[in-house]
Amino acid sequence: MAGAAYNTYGKGAYMSDRALNYIGGEWCWPDGAAEIPCVNPADTRDVICVAPDSPAEEVSRAVAAARAAYPAWKRTPPPERAKIITRAGQIMAERKNAMGALVTRECGKPLPEGLGDVQEAIDMAHLAAGEGRRMHGKTAPSELPDKLCLSFREPKGVCGLITPWNFPVAIPAWKGLHALICGNTIVLKPAEDTPMCGVEFVRALVDAGVPKGVVNLVHGSGEVTGKAIVEHGDIDLVSFTGSTQTGCYVASTCGATGKGVSLECGGKNAQIVMDDANLDLALEGATWGAFGTAGQRCTATSRLIVHEKVHDAMVERIVNAAKNVKVGNGMDDGVLTGPIINETQMRRVLEYIRIGRDDDGATLACGGERMSDGALAHGWFVRPTVFTGVTRGMRIFKEEIFGPVLSVVKVGSLDEAVETLNDCAYGLSSSIYTQDVNAAMRAMRDIEAGIVYINGPTIGAEVHMPFGGVKGTGNGHREAAWTGLDIFSEWKTVYVDYSGKLQRAQIDNAE
Ligand code: ADP
Repeated sequence: MAGAAYNTYGKGAYMSDRALNYIGGEWCWPDGAAEIPCVNPADTRDVICVAPDSPAEEVSRAVAAARAAYPAWKRTPPPERAKIITRAGQIMAERKNAMGALVTRECGKPLPEGLGDVQEAIDMAHLAAGEGRRMHGKTAPSELPDKLCLSFREPKGVCGLITPWNFPVAIPAWKGLHALICGNTIVLKPAEDTPMCGVEFVRALVDAGVPKGVVNLVHGSGEVTGKAIVEHGDIDLVSFTGSTQTGCYVASTCGATGKGVSLECGGKNAQIVMDDANLDLALEGATWGAFGTAGQRCTATSRLIVHEKVHDAMVERIVNAAKNVKVGNGMDDGVLTGPIINETQMRRVLEYIRIGRDDDGATLACGGERMSDGALAHGWFVRPTVFTGVTRGMRIFKEEIFGPVLSVVKVGSLDEAVETLNDCAYGLSSSIYTQDVNAAMRAMRDIEAGIVYINGPTIGAEVHMPFGGVKGTGNGHREAAWTGLDIFSEWKTVYVDYSGKLQRAQIDNAE
């Protein structure tokens, strides 16, 4: 490239202390780009790497590489694309332990969850590769003789993928592998907190033999690199996962610039506990849902809606459990709650706790503070927190906190429980614990959410089922499963007329 405005490290290059971009088949670093440090949130003395805050020109190079690679990749038979995805899945399986540990080091979640994150990407590789021999279209009879009606999927083109830090391998895989099997080329921008996980995901694809330009990786901040993707004139689709606020900007900008857009945004998920529930089971679900991943999943449980007959017993249990949750570095055995991802987010969580206590007037039953003693001194830890006496008007009832904070609401009936759950700007995940099959069926029918769990926590999605939500959670798409194909493909309808004459639908055969 003229002027060499970037440093090329070559196809095989890999640096463990620099999260390089990958553009047109080469690892590279945009010359002069500001460096974004990436630190371990459990111990900020552990500097993992620096990533470039890639400017708009770097995004343009990546988009140009993706555009150039698109025609050949689009023509590559899907089963051939699938072979590369299968190999990438195998490579991730071989590297699972190292990748899982990296997930824990970069984003703080405990190692079993870090390994689970990588497993989800491996599962997604199996699923997407299988689509290489499926991706079924439909045929239908024609209303006219000697005529055939077909439909099949075609790729969208160049896809910009903007991903968050909390599933730093799984979410790039959800988006990327479905995009690739459909025949799109991609430009991935991972979250600035987890750039090396993005590198490792891309490296698996590169080592699996993905042709140059088909997969491109551009690191950077949302305001610089993310914005450049969203505003770029030659991207056909942006698939975004992150905050609702950013999602609204992404959707409106994509609308204004004529791009397709799929959004996966916030949640304020609730677990209902009915009076006939197995309380021990409900407790396990609530503890895992609220304090696992330090509450930083879009499907985390942040509201516990409890029938008045078991309210006090359930509160006693959950407060006791919260007090006994092991908080710490995710590499240590038995840790359930790791750190908050960064200082800004930790302060936000603490501010919500203040709002709950002072402005909303809820009762702080336990937790409510930063933990910084001993081994936790250099990380961003918040003590698992439970509020009781929460009512529907309160901000902690309504707003996404994204931390280990659970609000307990008392209700008197199933109808009130479901109505309370539905009183929400989001609609991602939900759960009900009951042994009454009729209550379970009614809840399943009446809950306004993309995902409902019966006698299970609000977290635990599997890759072969649709993932997404209603209301403020998204814009109607469902990731993964068979529905993920709908995000990354267009339908083409073909009519084949072998009658040898002009046949006019709706006219020649009119009654
Ligand atoms: P979270 O709260 O999960 O960090 P964000 O919406 O801030 O959610 O970030 C999710 C992803 O969106 C990250 O990759 C981030 O860099 C990116 N992002 C943030 N702001 C913008 C923006 N204005 N334009 C495009 N991408 C953005």
